Order: sequence, then structure tokens, then C-alpha cells
Amino acid sequence: MDAASVSQTRNPGEPAPVIDAICWGTRGSMPSPGPSTVRYGGNTPCVEVRLADGRRFIFDAGTGIRPLGVSVNNEADTGETVIFFTHFHWDHIQGLPFFLPVYDHKASLGIIGPQQVDVNLEELFQGQMGPAYFPIPFDALAAHKEFSHLNEGSWQQGEFRVTAMRMRHASFTVGYRIDYGDLSLAYIPDNELANDGYDVGEGWRRRIVDFLGDVDVLLHDAMFTEDEYRFKADWGHSTFDQAVDLATEVGAKKLMFFHHDPCRTDRDSRSGHLPQHPSRSARRASRGIRQCVDPLTSPSIEVAIPGEASESLIRAAFTRRLLKPTDQEVGV
Ligand SMILES: [Zn+2]
Ligand SMILES: [Zn+2]
Repeated sequence: MDAASVSQTRNPGEPAPVIDAICWGTRGSMPSPGPSTVRYGGNTPCVEVRLADGRRFIFDAGTGIRPLGVSVNNEADTGETVIFFTHFHWDHIQGLPFFLPVYDHKASLGIIGPQQVDVNLEELFQGQMGPAYFPIPFDALAAHKEFSHLNEGSWQQGEFRVTAMRMRHASFTVGYRIDYGDLSLAYIPDNELANDGYDVGEGWRRRIVDFLGDVDVLLHDAMFTEDEYRFKADWGHSTFDQAVDLATEVGAKKLMFFHHDPCRTDRDSRSGHLPQHPSRSARRASRGIRQCVDPLTSPSIEVAIPGEASESLIRAAFTRRLLKPTDQEVGV
């Protein structure tokens, strides 16, 4: 949606909608604690999306959901939480048994994710907490739980809409696009852009470009460098360059590299893994964040390497500042 349509849909004096998205875990595959991952974090994927009216939505339950649960538990009313899963590889579910609200009988959890061929969502989590793996059975968790499948299509609560699309990754894996008012954010942690060997249907590249069209903030798998990818094609993940190319093609205003390789140190992330491209010049905008300017596209894309929690609060509304001022934007 462009600036002109923003001004048409908002009543005079009405505050602009805001999405706060907080990365509680950005690391791919397995937790990677230690002195070399302090800045960008060692917890596996978990992103919290919070709306100004207090509603909270969570995307994936990697180990990052444990500190999120501690912060939720400190609130007077844990209320209703909806957790969307992209898929069920360990790094996306292993924090769930340590998410404190699941033990609160006053809490209500919506659990949504893609149905797999051989197991439904509830059976899957019962299996994860089976007696050989965890001392507390899933059925004994006190929170009220509701399971629903979302393989492709949309889930909506008022103005807040989440749309799923199948991605190129082992098992039935989805990516999510979130639309709220005129703001949008996409969360695609595991996706191999360069591999067309996955059975994800006809015209997948065209469909993902449509799916992500004009998104404000894109969090996308950027696990490998181009050099690493030569040895890791078919692993189900993308490179920094591939993520930048997709963000450019879809007109994303901000790209955040996600699913950091467990071996990627803070030093690696800060120095030299930003893709170089003949039509693009890159410069450091601030520590850990670089500005990526493509003269062929307008507006420019801001590229960031998110870390955990306080380092990585993304206010989607702020991305509008990246737009060049136009007549239509005045007064918006
Ligand atoms: Zn993963
Ligand atoms: Zn995975």
C-alpha cells in the first residue's frame, strides 16, 4: 500500500497503527550460547508481535520463547496468546515446554501451524513431551489450549491478518505475512530460495513475489554466505545475497537477515557478510545495521542483522521514514 492510500484509509486525528516485533531468538538449527554470539544471540527462532491494544502473537517457539515467557509471566494478566508455527523442526519447537504461560490455568493458548502428512498438531506436541523426552506430559499443562491447522490461506482477528504460504524447506513448512492496518511484516525463517527441487506447486517464485509485495519489513532466512552455499545447497536455507535479491524484487522496505548459522560469530556478522552487488552500494548505517541502496529501486532497502530482544525491536511504522517524502505523505 502506498503513502496515498495510507492517507485515504485513516481518519483525521486517528493515531497510526504500530506493530512492535521483538526477536527473542534469531539463531538457526540449534542454540549457540557463548562469548562469540552475545550480540546477535544464541537462542533459536521466536518472534513476538505486539499490538498497541495489548494483543500478543508469537511466531515459532525456539529457545527464545523461554525468556519471552518470563516477561509475559511478570504481567498481571497473561490473557490470550496465539502461537504460529512455521514447521516443527527442533529449533522451532524446543522452547515450548519452557514457556511459563503453558503452566498457568488462567492462560489461553491458540496453537496454529501447518498439518503434516502423518501427524496432526496436537499429536505432534504430545509426542514432543512424551515420557522419554520430558517429565511433564502435554495433557497436564494447565493453560487452555486450542489447536488449528493453517497450511495455506489466512487467519484473521479484527484488522490483524496472518497469511500462510508454503516455503521451500523439508516437511510442510510455511512462511507468514502479517497485515495490520496499512502495515505489514513477513516472517520466513526457513526457506531455500535457489532450490526448485521442493514440491511446492507451480509458479512458486511468482507466487512468493506476489505474497510479499510491498511488505514493510521482511525477516528472511539468510543462513549462508555464497561460499558456504556451494557446499550446502539442498539444506533448505538461503544466502544473504538471495535474501537481498528477493527483498529488492518484492519492494520490501526493510530486510532483516534471520536464522543465523550456529557457527556465525558476532564478528562475522558485523564484518563482511553483506552481499556485494554491482548495482548496489552498501554502507554501515549504525553498528550491526547497514544501508543497502539500489539505484534501480526506490525506496532503498534497509538491511539489518537482528539480535535478540532489546537489540531488535522493530517498529514497523517507523519504516515509513525510509520513504522519500512525497506530496501524498504530508500530514500522514
Ligand atoms: Zn530452522
Ligand atoms: Zn527447519
